[in-house]
Amino acid sequence: MAEKTYDVTELFGSDVFNEAVMKARLPKAIFKELMKVMHGNAELTLPIAEVVASTMKDWAVEKGATHYTHWFQPMTGITAEKHDSFISPVGDGTVIMEFSGKELIKGEPDASSFPSGGLRATFEARGYTAWDPTSYAFIKDNTLYIPTAFFSYSGEALDKKTPLLKSMDAVSKQALRILRLFGNTTAKSVVATVGAEQEYFLVDKKTYDKRKDLIFTGRTLFGAAPVKGQELEDHYFGVIKQRVSDYMKDLDKHLWALGVSSKTKHNEVAPAQHECAPIFESANLAADHNQLMMEMMKKVALEHNMVCLLHEKPFAGVNGSGKHDNWALSTDDGQNLLNPGDSPMENAQFLTFLVAIIKAVDEYADLLRLSVATAGNDHRLGANEAPPAIISVFLGEQLEDVVEQFVDNGEATSSLEGEEYISGVHSLPHFQKDATDRNRTSPFAFTGNKFEFRMVGSTQSIADPNTVLNTIVAEVLCDMADKLEAAEDLPMALHDMIKDTIAAHKRIIFNGNGYSDEWVVEAERRGLPNIKCMVDAVPALVKPEAVEIFEKHGVYTKAEMESRAEVMYETYSKTINIEALTMIDMAKKQIVPATIKYQTSLAESVNAIKAASSAVDTSVQEALMADISTNLKDMYAALAHLEEVAGKAEAMEEGAEQGHYYHDVVFTAMDELRKPADKLEMLVAKSAWPFPSYGDLIFEV
Ligand code: ADP
Ligand code: MG
Repeated sequence: MAEKTYDVTELFGSDVFNEAVMKARLPKAIFKELMKVMHGNAELTLPIAEVVASTMKDWAVEKGATHYTHWFQPMTGITAEKHDSFISPVGDGTVIMEFSGKELIKGEPDASSFPSGGLRATFEARGYTAWDPTSYAFIKDNTLYIPTAFFSYSGEALDKKTPLLKSMDAVSKQALRILRLFGNTTAKSVVATVGAEQEYFLVDKKTYDKRKDLIFTGRTLFGAAPVKGQELEDHYFGVIKQRVSDYMKDLDKHLWALGVSSKTKHNEVAPAQHECAPIFESANLAADHNQLMMEMMKKVALEHNMVCLLHEKPFAGVNGSGKHDNWALSTDDGQNLLNPGDSPMENAQFLTFLVAIIKAVDEYADLLRLSVATAGNDHRLGANEAPPAIISVFLGEQLEDVVEQFVDNGEATSSLEGEEYISGVHSLPHFQKDATDRNRTSPFAFTGNKFEFRMVGSTQSIADPNTVLNTIVAEVLCDMADKLEAAEDLPMALHDMIKDTIAAHKRIIFNGNGYSDEWVVEAERRGLPNIKCMVDAVPALVKPEAVEIFEKHGVYTKAEMESRAEVMYETYSKTINIEALTMIDMAKKQIVPATIKYQTSLAESVNAIKAASSAVDTSVQEALMADISTNLKDMYAALAHLEEVAGKAEAMEEGAEQGHYYHDVVFTAMDELRKPADKLEMLVAKSAWPFPSYGDLIFEV
């Protein structure tokens, strides 16, 4: 029987102060001015802000809002908010609901407890938030949310949105220079477009509540492998279970009301793992909406007595979660620059952008790697799972063939039968997304009309990777535009540039299996970096070449970059510290006592059996007891060691050295503790084990 339906078109964006609402409610002249501001063609003035604020407030109050908040994205990678109510006393004991232009434009949250990496001197704890008019305000939980940028008293960015917006401007400016060379005089801006596919796990709330590791760290720190894993691959795109399906439907409703265009949902590779993909939009909106998506995923799960795990690796030995960052460049009039196009001119333009991206990824691979470096993502990247820590570009057979011919012959024919030449006068085929499975192992794959950056971690903000991507592509486009603008024979210069760029950066192109050991060897031979962990990735952020390009394109100042590196080390250390302390706690208070209790019951059973009849063989019980004793002893030694090194780490000064110590010593000690504990889980009766098993967690929902 079909369920009761609702009108999606009516629901979509119903809690958003979007263009349609603005148009309907704002005076015509104000609406026009605001549109100019939103498109970057005018500065916001206070009189306009006053009208917008009061209209926004009226709309919000009608929808039940009592408060407003400046919503921002500090360097923690999640969002922050401080709520103020609209009430304003009028002197006779009553209040009216008020919201001024000033309150809309600027906020002053106390910034002292957000990470600043030393940027915000302690005597100036104030931070400022500034309205981002390019991202719509919305209502959630009876509060009007105003997307804002967050910065310090002296103007340094303290958030993830500001640099992203700046990088979008940078890539727009440089891409426009290239477009002008190709005769495009109409485009006013170029937009970095992003669609972020979000992976997640769902577990039962009651089961979750029994695991301190999940509660405190978002991942399991102990846990023997389940009898059934993902070997059968029966979960991928499998039938969605009713409980999960109900959740997904509910999630869609929440997201749609907030104007988040949730489009595709399906089961993922691992049991209990799923994915939700939105329709792409500008990188800034995609970043805001991805934050909302993650928040709603968690919130709606609780309403269904489940918990949504966004961690990159909730379960050892089970596929982890990522975020596929689909990225392309598009003109403001909707032309996707990564679409090969139909005319020879479009093809040459496409090839120019393509080779620029290839060069950017090769030259700044370490920055891209850095942009996805988190403690959680260390469990995926370079750990025998999708994708490897080595950055390479997948083009697909067709396009790689074109590119190779170009290098060899200076022109190319398409490998598709009946297709025409590409170079000079003929046209490129439309590149189809490569249907083979191989490209799923590529960290940076061309998929027909966009690149898919697959290294992004499932919990992280997509702002950082897109900030880096936009900036490095802006830098290469800038360099190309400098040369082409000065060229006497433009077609010739362009031809040589495409050819030379491919020849110089071919090493980054790899269509094979990115998970194989051979690739690791081959990549090393090609001189591609293989940065295995977060702490090794951080230095890329402060090297002179990086500082130079980020400063040149106005994305980060040197001080901002240094502060971000500090924050990264700090965050890493804190993450591992919490994990180590949680492990110690679980080992001491749960695993050791439970094991001893079980040992005692075994001993009592042996005694009871022997008392009943000395002829009965109790060697099995005794062997089991011996096995348990050995592992318990190992575990106890590993526990003492972990306590010692965790204590040392905590006493160290914050920074690179501490980060490395956490990685090299503490993290390794955690692994050593886990091994005997997981063996004990297999020896001790299930009823005696102090928390739910992997099987309980991933097969129960
Ligand atoms: P897949 O097979 O990986 O699901 P899709 O074509 O469904 O491929 O796209 C995946 C994601 O890529 C979606 O979020 C989609 O909106 C996004 N996407 C499509 N075109 C673009 C583009 N031009 N720029 C950025 N993202 C895009
Ligand atoms: Mg994908």
